[in-house]
Amino acid sequence: MNTEAILDDLRSRIEAGYPLLFLQTWEEERWEHELAELTLEIERGLVTWTITGGLQPPVGEATEPSAWELLLRLGDYPPGHVFLVKDFHAWISDPVIVRRLRDLLSGLIAERKTLIFLGPVAEIPFDLTKDSVRIELPLPGYEDLQSEFTAAMAQRSEAGEAELTLSDDEQDKLIKAVMGLSTQEARKAWRRALHGRTELNDDVFTTLISEKRTLASGSDLLEFYDLEEGVGDIGGLDALKEWMARRADAYSPRAREQGIPLPKGMLLLGVQGCGKSLTARATARLLAFPLIRLDIANLLGSARGESEKNMRSALALVESIAPAVLWMDEIEKGFAGVETDGGGGGDATMTRLVGSFLTWMSDIQKPIFVIATANSVQNLPPEMLRRGRFDELFFVDLPNFEERKHILGIHLKKRGWKPEQFDVNDLAARSEGFSGAELEQIVITAMIDAFGQGHIMQHEDLERSWRSTVPLSVTMEDKIFALRNWAQDRCRRATSDSRVTSMLESEARDDALKVPVDEEEKSLPAWAQLAHSGQLKAALVEYVRTDGDVLFPELAQALSRYMETSGDQGLAARANPNTVLWAGMSQQLCELICELVSSKRLYIHPTDPERYKAAQQSIRLPLLKEPTDNRLPRAAWLPSSLRCAPHAVHAARLARIGRMKLGGN
Ligand code: ATP
Repeated sequence: MNTEAILDDLRSRIEAGYPLLFLQTWEEERWEHELAELTLEIERGLVTWTITGGLQPPVGEATEPSAWELLLRLGDYPPGHVFLVKDFHAWISDPVIVRRLRDLLSGLIAERKTLIFLGPVAEIPFDLTKDSVRIELPLPGYEDLQSEFTAAMAQRSEAGEAELTLSDDEQDKLIKAVMGLSTQEARKAWRRALHGRTELNDDVFTTLISEKRTLASGSDLLEFYDLEEGVGDIGGLDALKEWMARRADAYSPRAREQGIPLPKGMLLLGVQGCGKSLTARATARLLAFPLIRLDIANLLGSARGESEKNMRSALALVESIAPAVLWMDEIEKGFAGVETDGGGGGDATMTRLVGSFLTWMSDIQKPIFVIATANSVQNLPPEMLRRGRFDELFFVDLPNFEERKHILGIHLKKRGWKPEQFDVNDLAARSEGFSGAELEQIVITAMIDAFGQGHIMQHEDLERSWRSTVPLSVTMEDKIFALRNWAQDRCRRATSDSRVTSMLESEARDDALKVPVDEEEKSLPAWAQLAHSGQLKAALVEYVRTDGDVLFPELAQALSRYMETSGDQGLAARANPNTVLWAGMSQQLCELICELVSSKRLYIHPTDPERYKAAQQSIRLPLLKEPTDNRLPRAAWLPSSLRCAPHAVHAARLARIGRMKLGGN
């Protein structure tokens, strides 16, 4: 109920002669003011009582103020009076006081007098429950804060403070940023955040939001986060950032007027260290909402029903803080045990928890944006992924070349370096498979090392740091591949990997090739320049990209100047290892191709065997025209080629290939 509805309710109860009302609030001043207006309106006298001031206005002789004295003096006032009693919770449990109140009841009703107990605690003694009503008073709503804001701004200009011109949207954001606070707290927060300012910036909202920290401080289920990073601190993830900016508009007053529905939230699934948590923090800052983390593991209680109760109370608290961003990190771990698509017993408590959370999420009418993050789909409750739960499911992949450049630039700048002073292009080109967190770590390690050695950081320090970092993607390749595959048709990509992006990427990569030292090298094609500088993986991709459709022996031949390409190893489909793709290659070349196919940089396509014949190449094995679903009893050769785009029909079957030892061809 909002303030107006509560006042209507109180008016009708006073007029109906309710003798005892217990009102719970921290906002004594605001409600005292509201009650004074209400009693004036219904033409009732208002008397207030505190332990220090006694009854005001007093009647008769002045005495020492005490709770007992209050109860003795009520009869001295004419019928119809309303008594606003503060600080009474300290005495209300005293049996003598309770007895006295019970004795007074019939007189109060007969004389249409109402005692209103106002305070942060509103415990009603059992003996009085039948004759009392307890009402929890709401915090100020948007309209209350709007008039409070107007008053605060007027006060500010009266005090001669600097002029601050605000657009409607800005004013709206300033009001929303303090929702959940009392009027007094809101005023204090505005005063602190706007003091001496002539225009708004992000810091104003961060200051305002931090005032809400205390609201969540009493709960061990919720954690309040400071918002230091903005959208500008996220390298890459352009599709996700663009989507977020559009969602932010949906909270504006204009969108409200036009009935645009409130966004519900997003689920970010992706590779570890690629910016999911960072996105949660930046989103909260973009929306100017506080970021509150809900720890699902902490919700779990041992007694039956305790977990759901914890969940309900945590969500109620979030609602009281709204608008807010509610962040649930690593939900696959938190909700571990919920029955997944794969079947299994499932944990009834967890299933109920997920169910009650999803119901809450679909019913919620307050501006609460939920961000759930996950590193794996295993144990992820399938019902969470169903369409309509979240506004969008995003897949956050390892950063591409452009993104790596951006991330390195951000972390260098953040620590006071000029990215132009380093060969960021070169570093980004070499760090395929590195996550944002690992790129950040390269910068930090290089800084520390340079400092330890007593010199200013140089590109060589970054390079050394890069060399000593083994990206997680090397050891987690299988997991990342599985995740990427799973997300392909189910999630939107956080990075718009359009043709334009890959073109830009390859152009930038070409720019990065400052390696040629002599005229001969300068005239080499881009792939050869890359190979020359030792970037064999990039060279291989570039070769396939320029040629469009490459046979394995052609590739081996082209790269043979830069690495050992022939040997006793071969390639076969993982799903069906008797499907041989090619043989007679070196282990290094096979591994490079496997890695690029697994990470979806390159794709296998079945091709016409005539092409191999024309190149005078073949394998002495029975010929296979296309990959089969059935396991082959014997090895067969599937003539195939490498391309940069997946095959329309056989992409899935040839998505994973493995290295094998088969002998020469
Ligand atoms: P985890 O699943 O392990 O929690 P995550 O995807 O949530 O990983 P973050 O915690 O956001 O990753 O990343 C860790 C740190 O790495 C960030 O605080 C940030 O400094 C850096 N980082 C990661 N991705 C990016 C990015 N895209 N742009 C800039 N910095 C990044």
